[in-house]
Amino acid sequence: MTFKDFNFNEQLAEGIQSMGYNTPTAIQAQAIPIILEGKDIIACAQTGTGKTASYLLPVLNSIGKADAGHRISTLILGPTRELVQQIDQQVEGLAYFTNISSLAVFGGGDGIAYEQQKRGIQNKVDIVIATPGRLIAFLTSGALKLDHLKHFVLDEADRMLDMGFFQDIMRIITYLPANRQTLLFSATMPGKIRTLARSILKDPEQINIALSQPAVGISQQIYRVHDAQKTKLIEVLLRSGLYTSTIIFASTKEKVKALAKDLKHAQINAEAFHSDMNQGEREEVLLNFKNRQLPVVIGTDALSRGIDVEGIDLVINYDVPGDPEDYIHRIGRTARAETKGTAVTLVNKHDERKLTNIQSLIDKKIEEITLPADIGSIPEQKPQFDNTKRKSRNNRRPAHKDAPKGQKRS
Ligand code: AMP
Repeated sequence: MTFKDFNFNEQLAEGIQSMGYNTPTAIQAQAIPIILEGKDIIACAQTGTGKTASYLLPVLNSIGKADAGHRISTLILGPTRELVQQIDQQVEGLAYFTNISSLAVFGGGDGIAYEQQKRGIQNKVDIVIATPGRLIAFLTSGALKLDHLKHFVLDEADRMLDMGFFQDIMRIITYLPANRQTLLFSATMPGKIRTLARSILKDPEQINIALSQPAVGISQQIYRVHDAQKTKLIEVLLRSGLYTSTIIFASTKEKVKALAKDLKHAQINAEAFHSDMNQGEREEVLLNFKNRQLPVVIGTDALSRGIDVEGIDLVINYDVPGDPEDYIHRIGRTARAETKGTAVTLVNKHDERKLTNIQSLIDKKIEEITLPADIGSIPEQKPQFDNTKRKSRNNRRPAHKDAPKGQKRS
């Protein structure tokens, strides 16, 4: 299959070519024909699968056909300003040869940003890409009207619900015409997403893209450590001279801040990335990291979704993620585009069950590396959790909170 099979208009075809896309990805091959037919969809697909273009291309084609009237015809909602900006960049690239315009609307920043976004809306745009909170501010003040909306996209719907946006989404829907196409994308499909889908989609087609396994180019390793040894080990890894670009993931922003402080104290050029920073600070960190002026960035799982930086050669998991799919998201930041990368996970004595769940999801035992002698002795290892027993037990009682969420892998 090629992009020609979709019969996109000439300007859009030129945009696709200029973005360097040759072959549609699996989600694009499945979703594009359905969206072109005007149907609603619910799609289970993650970042890195080409999901953004799978809805942008048919929507851009349809706006092009209607000859861009610069009345908002498309609303795309995403959980974070980073995602909103990345979607906007893809719109700009793909729609470069069309006269379709878009605007990113997100919270944070200062009053100036709010005024700029407001002016942008008044300048008339075809596509608004927004985080829910800021969009509501524009809707309730009457600055933004969505009476002519044709396409409504929810991207990373699971993350939006995790961030507490359910009420906001339902409120936004009251401002939309009932007669519209709704496209819902989510990396996972917990019950609450299905409930949301039932209330806002009409007779949707369902698409499932299987969870992609970690790229073969990633060398996955674990170190068994005490918490007190983690920072020292990270220093050793960062000073080894083997890596030029590193992301470190920690489970909470408190840990992110503390580790950044410790590494800076040890004269390592590292910056934290978390939601307490203002937008300008976050953007500066990401830009410096992308430009390779900053070799080490430390963040929570929010950083593992959406960040599309080439050339990251080391991912460190400061702690073992509770959700095994987050492990795949995190380590997927390295070895992109068939290059090689290393993913190191630090495992303390409480993390065995989480590690077992990850190994069961990736169907592989991760190589254990011996702790360098100068870091001290390793924790006594608890017996490995028997996954087979867990499976049979789970048939009789609710799944343990650490157990992999079975329905995600459909
Ligand atoms: P996404 O899953 O939407 O975040 O996309 C991940 C990356 O794949 C982005 O950098 C896209 O620009 C890129 N991409 C999307 N579709 C294609 C395609 N058909 N061929 C090559 N790259 C693509």
